[in-house]
Amino acid sequence: MPGAKVEELPDLSGMLPGPRLAGELAELPVGGLDEHGVVEVMRAARRLASWAESLELSAIAELDRRRSVQADRCGAWTVEMSRALCDEVSAALTLSGTAAAIQLGMAAMLEGPLLETGRALVEGRIDGDKARVICDGILGIGHDIGRRVESLVLPDAPRLTARQLAVRVRKAVIEADPEGYERRRKAAEKGRRVESYSNPDGTVDLAARDLPAEDAEAAYNYLNALASSIKADGDERPMDAIRADLVLELLRGKHPADLFPPPTHPQQHPPSPAAPTPTPEDSAAGARASRRGTGRSGGTRRTDPRRSTDGGTGDEEAAAITQTARDRLTALLDQIGDRGGPAERRLLVTEAGRRMTEALSPLKVRWCALAVDTGGHPVHGHHGYRPPAGMRRLIQARDRTCAFPTCNRRATECDLDHTIPHHKGGPTCPCNLAALCRGHHLLKQHPDWTLIQIWPGALLWITPTGHWYLIGPEP
Ligand SMILES: [Zn+2]
Ligand SMILES: [Zn+2]
Repeated sequence: MPGAKVEELPDLSGMLPGPRLAGELAELPVGGLDEHGVVEVMRAARRLASWAESLELSAIAELDRRRSVQADRCGAWTVEMSRALCDEVSAALTLSGTAAAIQLGMAAMLEGPLLETGRALVEGRIDGDKARVICDGILGIGHDIGRRVESLVLPDAPRLTARQLAVRVRKAVIEADPEGYERRRKAAEKGRRVESYSNPDGTVDLAARDLPAEDAEAAYNYLNALASSIKADGDERPMDAIRADLVLELLRGKHPADLFPPPTHPQQHPPSPAAPTPTPEDSAAGARASRRGTGRSGGTRRTDPRRSTDGGTGDEEAAAITQTARDRLTALLDQIGDRGGPAERRLLVTEAGRRMTEALSPLKVRWCALAVDTGGHPVHGHHGYRPPAGMRRLIQARDRTCAFPTCNRRATECDLDHTIPHHKGGPTCPCNLAALCRGHHLLKQHPDWTLIQIWPGALLWITPTGHWYLIGPEP
């Protein structure tokens, strides 16, 4: 920019990431730098992020160590304890359970067998994604082989993308430990599954994961061949769309032969992807048929369940109460400041949560008396342990997912847990029931965790460190 003042740039590339580099970057007016400087800032900021991630991982490793020591004191480390630790990290960092487990595994590896990778991360030579790729690649391998793989891939890691690095890691692992690779591949195949995710734009991703490579490749080739034949028939949809529509139609039980346009002459009806060249009439019919097909699959799209909550759950009231509770608890913690150990903080938050629940109790009694389930029946006064179907649907619609803050398990696949156990007088009512998946149902019973339902659908989780997470309808 002519006439604009160009700032003097300190030698960022020569600086190790840390407080000094952070200070320099925070002070730099990026708008006043030349383009070379702007790119230097970009790179320095990424190195700083790597450094920060290594701090996060050290803290995770430290919590892991302390929980192990505590476990040793009272017996042995159990699967439940490892799950609870994972949930603790998940809630603290707002990560999914899977992502938290990956961070935990990575934290342990960077302080154990993969010290060099840890050093590369703290020095900003590689970023967190690349460190994760190396850790992932050698998961379950003996330490010696792991270190050998690390020494093979680490020197080039700074100039490779995470994906390119993953290819190198895989190659190095196959070379270093062919039998182990084979063993792990078979073990991974045992976890093959189909997953579906809702996207923000209202579409859904459907993914088959950890499939045997050969079968997956054969299936994909078949899909391609089928799509190519349909395309050759004159279908105007893009190949991607044809393949996607085919997946849906095949999975919904349509016979491959029925995916082609209706035959004008039976012998021209292509029975398989190895289709003969179509006639022009076939092409026109094909385009019509495919448009119909697309329309049908579009018509079954599910509506957003968040909008379909009915039965007078008083969502707005619950949202307001959740917000007030959140503000009060935050204010309380501000007062406590840094005083008190984990146990004391846990007690304070638990007491505050209980007081809040008591204060709301008269209002809640009124709520319970007025609430009706999805069938319009009053929810109040049900004596049995199992909630009736209408009440179950009401709670599933209210919670949508498992009531643990980071869990996405659909409420319809969860247990309905009595927040205060039924045998301790907890009512079978939406004010005392919440959807919890198996794992978080178990977590709730962990002696160092506390769960309080402050208001129907507003749940306060208190962790072993006295951290708390309040979930409920948002305003
Ligand atoms: Zn109630
Ligand atoms: Zn859950």
